[in-house]
Amino acid sequence: MADDKKTSKERMKKPRNHLPLQEAAARIGNWDEVPLGYTLAQAMDEASRCIHCKKPECIGGCPVGIDIPAFLKLVEEGDVASAARKIREKNFLPAACGRVCPQDKQCEAVCIVGKKNDPVGIGNLERFVADYERAHKLDRLPQIPAPTGKKVAIIGAGPAGLTCAYELRIKGHDVTVFEAFHRGGGVMVYGIPRFRLPLEIIDEDLQLLVDMGVKFYYNMIIGKILTLDELLEKEGFDAVFIASGAGLPKMLGIKGENLNGIYSANEYLTRIYLMHANHFPKFPTPLYQGKRVAVIGAGNTAMDVLRTGKRMGVKVTCYYRRSRDEAPARTEELEHAEQEFIDFKWLSNPVEFIGDENNFVKAIKCEVMKLSEPDESGRRKPMSTGEFFVDEIDTVVFSLGCDVNPIIPSVTPDLRINKWGIIMVDHATCHTSKKGVFAGGDAITGGSTVILAMGQAKNAAKHMHEYLMGEFKYELDIPTDPNASGVTWEGRFAKGKR
Ligand SMILES: Cc1cc2nc3c(=O)[nH]c(=O)nc-3n(C[C@H](O)[C@H](O)[C@H](O)COP(=O)(O)OP(=O)(O)OC[C@H]3O[C@@H](n4cnc5c(N)ncnc54)[C@H](O)[C@@H]3O)c2cc1C
Repeated sequence: MADDKKTSKERMKKPRNHLPLQEAAARIGNWDEVPLGYTLAQAMDEASRCIHCKKPECIGGCPVGIDIPAFLKLVEEGDVASAARKIREKNFLPAACGRVCPQDKQCEAVCIVGKKNDPVGIGNLERFVADYERAHKLDRLPQIPAPTGKKVAIIGAGPAGLTCAYELRIKGHDVTVFEAFHRGGGVMVYGIPRFRLPLEIIDEDLQLLVDMGVKFYYNMIIGKILTLDELLEKEGFDAVFIASGAGLPKMLGIKGENLNGIYSANEYLTRIYLMHANHFPKFPTPLYQGKRVAVIGAGNTAMDVLRTGKRMGVKVTCYYRRSRDEAPARTEELEHAEQEFIDFKWLSNPVEFIGDENNFVKAIKCEVMKLSEPDESGRRKPMSTGEFFVDEIDTVVFSLGCDVNPIIPSVTPDLRINKWGIIMVDHATCHTSKKGVFAGGDAITGGSTVILAMGQAKNAAKHMHEYLMGEFKYELDIPTDPNASGVTWEGRFAKGKR
């Protein structure tokens, strides 16, 4: 029972319930999740830290607008089933979002409790509620209204595509998802490691969509097997949503980059998580990696590669040209990697890869860097020192981010893109330059986050529904300047309130 008499002051003082973690020495020997989750008592106690402010900022801090204070109140009262229904009003992937969202930059960043104490563990509580819902097999199936007779094609089964499918299906539209891989989930399956997001969670969410009547066609590369025009003109779709993500790896363009044994993070992780190379030979996907793996970059993807390599039993070293303070990875990800005995070579800028007689990489040459004084923006830039070192290695994994997948734009000349290949849309509606074609997720932002991809997909679905019902009467504002940036979260909220 919630203690209604607890004052805001008392609530503000309560310490945060941190999630228990698997011990580092044990977890590098398995693929199980690192955090272990709250008990009901811990969850109720954590929820009781919310002070229920008059103007809760956390709702605006959530890109899909979950009514966070309302679900926290229900958890505090022990009514987890109602809390699950409350979250589901806005988010159909709560178990994934509770695990992988950067809450420290979103809802928790604006939590008032966080001004004097640690913010309320909103993400951990979302995860708890979603796990409770799954464990107790609570009914998640939404009502599907009578068919509207409208057919929608969705390209890509990542978080953006799946969210759009859900939102349009609950409006009664006939929804078909076309996915290039042999299974759905997008980066949540082929990128984010199992020890952060177990596969069964995504499988259950995919099954929910199947149960709702969404059709999935796998191994279907749109742009190769069928074009957008064919979907619209021959296959009878009334509208299309492009959610093909950002899967084109960035490299450095340095000498030796094409040697054998050099992977992009996407290939390395896809072999392991999508094709199960971590269970070779039970699954017939080989992964050449020798004993020493060099990971280039220090963002979240790099942390995933480093920690995955550790679990594959190799020595992994991170090479990054700036210092730890500038590393773009979330602090928690970096700390988890450090706890797992991973080596970091800060201020080390790779300049060349050296190959053996069979063209396999055998060494990495780096320049030692130093940092400049902070410039006007406060940023310290890496500067040459003229000093170099060479490390012997067997494998390299580039983890420098990705550009947008180019296949669809390359065969669709009337689909406007910017000079980085990002699909240009009207920020408010997500409508592209092609009639009846909308886009969302990483395809319109460049590499971003699950929840932002979902937020855009919800926005797009709302306007696609209007389009399908003949109620779409907006003047579109789609940038023509090739230097224009993709959609930002701020942009969507600034302009997207129609
Ligand atoms: C290693 C890694 C770790 C990450 N960790 C996090 C994290 O912890 N938290 C977080 O919020 N975000 C994280 N991200 C980012 C996040 O996963 C993405 O922002 C998000 O998945 C984008 O969703 P999306 O649906 O736009 O694209 P995707 O998830 O990339 O899905 C796109 C789908 O479209 C398919 N596709 C592509 N082209 C075609 C085509 N022509 N025809 C048919 N199908 C096609 C792809 O196969 C894919 O399944 C991570 C990314 C990576 C790479």
